[in-house]
Amino acid sequence: MSDLLPDGSEFGLRGYLPERGVRRRIGLAPAKGEIDRNAPYKRIATEEAWSFPELVEAQVSLFKSGRASDDGALAMASMFANMPDLQDLLFDLGERRIAHMDEFGIDRQLLLLTSPGVQVLEPEEGTRLARKANDIAAEACARYPDRFSALAAFQPQDVDGAVAEIERAMKELNFNGAVLNSHWKGRYLDEPEFDPILAALEANDAALYIHPTSPWYTKPYKDRGMIGALGGFPHDVWIHTMGLILSGAFDKYPNLRLVIGHMGECMPLHLYRFDWMQSNADGVPGMRGGQPAVTLKHPISYYFKKNIWITTSGEGWEPAIKFCMDVLGPDRVLYAMDYPYQQSRDEVAAYDCLDISPEHKKMLMQENAERVFRL
Ligand code: MN
Repeated sequence: MSDLLPDGSEFGLRGYLPERGVRRRIGLAPAKGEIDRNAPYKRIATEEAWSFPELVEAQVSLFKSGRASDDGALAMASMFANMPDLQDLLFDLGERRIAHMDEFGIDRQLLLLTSPGVQVLEPEEGTRLARKANDIAAEACARYPDRFSALAAFQPQDVDGAVAEIERAMKELNFNGAVLNSHWKGRYLDEPEFDPILAALEANDAALYIHPTSPWYTKPYKDRGMIGALGGFPHDVWIHTMGLILSGAFDKYPNLRLVIGHMGECMPLHLYRFDWMQSNADGVPGMRGGQPAVTLKHPISYYFKKNIWITTSGEGWEPAIKFCMDVLGPDRVLYAMDYPYQQSRDEVAAYDCLDISPEHKKMLMQENAERVFRL
């Protein structure tokens, strides 16, 4: 591994291999500690990234064609393609990944096709590569049934293809849910056209993980070095999540389930104000290109406690974890690492040292994931 790692600072990736020589500011990161090798829980990491060469080639070729030059998410894919050390880690679903899991004490990874995934491609090609991605992930799960589980990729631009692929992945490949890398071309699942996808997720009991991508309009972020975790990522998932709630999706599909990473992308901190300000959107006609008014059956906070789970990917920070367990419930917070973007022995050790009850820690590290993803 080269010490001269590519600089992905625009996307918050400068520290993606923190223990292999990349300088970073430590700030609130955990102090050095030891991983408990006899922990009374399994560590199930629920937002672990992977990719494959054909997808990256398709993304780069579309980017170079200039046909989608406005798309910040496609630009991000092309930047990732220029980071060979990172690509090597993403492509490996074998011994190297397992060795890293062993090193960090991770019992199982839930595999998510990394951002921006197939959804930045043309509709048909996206569905073709979603099928291919799901076949590759299924094969990895079959090779390492005790170490890997997977979420299904799909191409939302091709609604019929997406529905068929969610169904195939859940029924034939025994997948554990689905993953969407937030917006595509500035569009979101709350728009009426995509309703069949929500119906298919609920009908197949597939929890949908909404993972960040670069915002569609990146200029204000790019100008400030904030495209990734410093702003663009959480803001876009916020639009997607709140958009789904305010569209009435969870009143229409009460068993629809969402999983939001990175400590719920900040939203749990705002539940009080969401409820206070709900009338700004509730009952207002003309949203989403002229739709009739939607009046929610419940306060916004209700949906965060009934339909939404959050993970701690990249946020192994005790006060934030305790706050979310307190306001959402200890059954709604799941451990995630965010391999290979963020990985650190110290962070895993910090989870072992968390000042919470043994019961809640086992829920955080293991049992909540087993329940939400039907592992
Ligand atoms: Mn991630």
